[in-house]
Amino acid sequence: MRRLSCSLVFLALSAVPASAADTARPFRVLAFYSTHAEPDHVEFAEQAVRFYADAATRRHFTLEATTNWDDLTPQRLKGIDVVLFLNESPHAPAQRTAFENYMESGGGWIGFHAAGYNDADTGWPWFVRFLGGAIFQGNSWPPLPATVEVDDRTDPLTRHLPPRFVSPDNEWYSWWPDPRSTPGVRVLLTLSPSNYPIGMKETIVSGDVPIVWTNTRYRMLYVNMGHGDKIFTEPVQNTFFEDALLWAAGRR
Ligand code: ZN
Repeated sequence: MRRLSCSLVFLALSAVPASAADTARPFRVLAFYSTHAEPDHVEFAEQAVRFYADAATRRHFTLEATTNWDDLTPQRLKGIDVVLFLNESPHAPAQRTAFENYMESGGGWIGFHAAGYNDADTGWPWFVRFLGGAIFQGNSWPPLPATVEVDDRTDPLTRHLPPRFVSPDNEWYSWWPDPRSTPGVRVLLTLSPSNYPIGMKETIVSGDVPIVWTNTRYRMLYVNMGHGDKIFTEPVQNTFFEDALLWAAGRR
């Protein structure tokens, strides 16, 4: 009898295509952020947790959030479909190794704003390669809205977006080398040159400034938005943030 039950279960499962069975399960998101960071970055992270918690039921996922980076372990990441870095990246070697192994094994990731910040002191070459070679070059200040151009509207991730939209107040980062020049990097959103010069105290006056990109070797997305309390005030951009999460979970 026991044997028969097992066979029936097996038949029932195999009758469902793998992809359908997979999408029936709510996917799991684990967000990391720091409270010991620039206040505007903490404000963004706390808003992002509320934003994605609100979207969770509608978009069929569960959200867990932690400010303890020691949660970045193989055990904790087991069964997690998407990791979010909302305002920082890990510093401890064990945390970094756990993240590298997670991504190299097909995990999903979205990093916002300061999560992608790296300079000569970061000391994490894997992370720079993961970001498509991008090293922080400069920023605009104070936070200002900017017109953002959609590079490729045929992509599942950007097809709901207009050709361009105004992204709310943000501190915009520029990068050198330009990740667009790295093979395998696909840029999805770019700062429109019509914004130049942008900033007052710190100014970006020219150049190619990718805002959102993916290194196609991974299921990853870097998103430059993430400074202050205005980021979630634009519905078009909010839709993109939700679509991005589904994409990072492999549901797009
Ligand atoms: Zn910032």
